[in-house]
Amino acid sequence: MDDLLKLKGKNIVVMGVANERSIAWGVAKSLFSVGANVIFTYRKERSLVKLEKLLNADGYEAMIVQCDVNEDDSIHEAFAKIGAGVGTIHGVVHSLAFAHAEDLRNDFVETTRSGYAFAQDTSAYSLIATAKEARPFMTDGGSIVTMSYLGAERVLDGYNVMGVAKAALEASVKYLANDLGKENIRVNAISAGAIRTLSAKGVPSFNTILSQIEEKAPLKRNVTQEEVADMTLAVLSNLSRGVTGEVIYVDAGYHIMG
Ligand code: NAP
Repeated sequence: MDDLLKLKGKNIVVMGVANERSIAWGVAKSLFSVGANVIFTYRKERSLVKLEKLLNADGYEAMIVQCDVNEDDSIHEAFAKIGAGVGTIHGVVHSLAFAHAEDLRNDFVETTRSGYAFAQDTSAYSLIATAKEARPFMTDGGSIVTMSYLGAERVLDGYNVMGVAKAALEASVKYLANDLGKENIRVNAISAGAIRTLSAKGVPSFNTILSQIEEKAPLKRNVTQEEVADMTLAVLSNLSRGVTGEVIYVDAGYHIMG
């Protein structure tokens, strides 16, 4: 299997574990299962506590570094520490986003300048800043993967300012893929179906979204954390070596429906 994936012993940075439901935790479990060396970044102390519990419970060991993507210095310091610790970085999973609750609750037209800037900064610009800081350590090439959502291209009730941030994120994936391709660094997004996580709680119509998907998606169900994680693993691995600048849907086919 590892002949195909080439992930055994590779240093992969996973950003965005808040708890066991986080997409990033699913990705980490898939990576551990194929022998990758996973390095975590977290923001809140609460996330660190959860992460340490999860690692202990499953008997995993990992380097953990604090990183707040709203702060350039924090991203710089985090990647400097990771680089000093592992030398080469082979992959980065950017699985984080944030918008103020009122910007999801109110009509989109009511979005404030500061709320818009904050959602863009945290959820889209952070990928650019992360790629910039990871790049000096990605000397063997590698793969950067971010998490997007269908709200980037369609109006989804209650997704509002986050949909616009995801649109910017997906465009950033393409520009970054073009810049970094000559260094054999690939950049892709996974457009994940709806999954019940801490962040998803902030989307007011989340339960309705889940039942609409179940009804309409070709597979007649929602996707699981494991399914998103396994596709992320594929995009990090040698299997996807010819793929960059892409948005890959793991959504039970929901996006193809009218
Ligand atoms: P989650 O478990 O709540 O994870 C979100 C993560 O974002 C948390 O670990 C949070 O860390 C981190 N974060 C927020 N602001 C940050 C900052 N300034 N600096 C560093 N980290 C920050 O939710 P999730 O659903 O797994 O979300 C992961 C990604 O998947 C997001 O990009 C989300 O938009 C995307 N996605 C989710 C779904 C879904 O239905 N769940 C569908 C499609 C795409 P702290 O808690 O420590 O602040």
